Amino acid sequence: MPYVRELQAKIRELADRKNAIILAHNYQRSEIQEIADYVGESLYLAKKATEADTELVIFCGVDFMAETAALLNPDKRIVLPEKASTCPMAAQLPASLVKEARRRNPGAAVVLYVNTLAEAKAEADVICTSGNAIEVIRSLEADTVVFGPDRNLCWHVARHVPGKCIIPVPEAGYCYVHKLFSLEDMLKLKEEIGPDAKLLVHPECDPDLQLKADLVGSTGQMYRFVRESRAGSFIIATEVGLVERVRRELPDKKAIPAKSDAICAEMKLITLEKVLRALEEEGPVVKIPRDVAEKAGQAVERMFELTGS
Ligand code: SF4
Repeated sequence: MPYVRELQAKIRELADRKNAIILAHNYQRSEIQEIADYVGESLYLAKKATEADTELVIFCGVDFMAETAALLNPDKRIVLPEKASTCPMAAQLPASLVKEARRRNPGAAVVLYVNTLAEAKAEADVICTSGNAIEVIRSLEADTVVFGPDRNLCWHVARHVPGKCIIPVPEAGYCYVHKLFSLEDMLKLKEEIGPDAKLLVHPECDPDLQLKADLVGSTGQMYRFVRESRAGSFIIATEVGLVERVRRELPDKKAIPAKSDAICAEMKLITLEKVLRALEEEGPVVKIPRDVAEKAGQAVERMFELTGS
C-alpha cells in the first residue's frame, strides 16, 4: 500500500505540474479512479476533456473512449496509457460491416453505439450512448434503423421504441463481460439479501435480466440511481469497477456485485505505473486520420443536437 500511495502522489504532483487532466472510466482500477480528476462514463469524460483548460489529457479507459475524446478535442493531446486497452465489442463492428448494412437497407438510419471505433462512427448518421439510445432513436424520422454493435442494447431500444424496425449489425454483437451475468444467480442473491434490494442492470446484459431489473441503465444512470434512492442495498450487474466506486463514494449504501468476477480485462491493463509513464512521455497520443475524424465527429455532434445536450 505505501508503494501505491507513493505512486499516486507522484502522478498527482506531475499532473498538476504539467497542468494535465486525468480521466478514469467507471471500470478502471480503484487506485486509478482515486487519483483521477473525473470518474464516469465515456461521453461524460470526453466532455470533461473539452471543458478543461489544458492541452494534455490522460484518458484511462479503452480505445474507442479515448478516440471519442479526441474527436471532440482535436487540438488537445489525448493520451491512452496502454495501447492494448482495446474494446473487444467495438472490434466486432468494422467500418466495412456498417457500409454493407447501409447498402442492404437503403433508407434506413444508421445509429451506432459510442462503443465503436472512429472508422465505424464515420459511417454512421448519429451516435448514441447506452443512456440515450432510446431518446436518439425515437427522435429520428426513419422507421427503420440499423443499429450496432451490441445486440442486447438493440433489444433494449426495440422494447422501448416499438414503432421502429431495428436491425442489428452485426447479427449478435456482445460485450463478453455483460454476458457473464445470469438471472438465476441474480435472483439467488436477491433472496439472500432481502426483497428490498434493488436490481440494477446494464443494457448490454441479456434480456431476461433486463426484464427483472428495477433499473436498466448506463453506469452513470446506475450511480445516480444508487445516490438518489431511499433503498439501502443494490445488486449491480455491470463491471465491478462501478461497484467499487459506489462503495468508495457512497459508503452508506450497500453495493453488491451481481458477479464478483465480472471484470473487463482490457480496462484493467492500465496501471498506475503506465499512467505515470504516459504523463512523463505525454504519449501514446490517440491519432485519427483527418477525414475519418471529421465524419465521425459529425455523427457525435448529431447526437448532441438530437438530445439537446
Ligand atoms: S466492458 Fe465490454 S464494452 Fe466495456 S470496454 Fe470492456 S469489453 Fe468493451
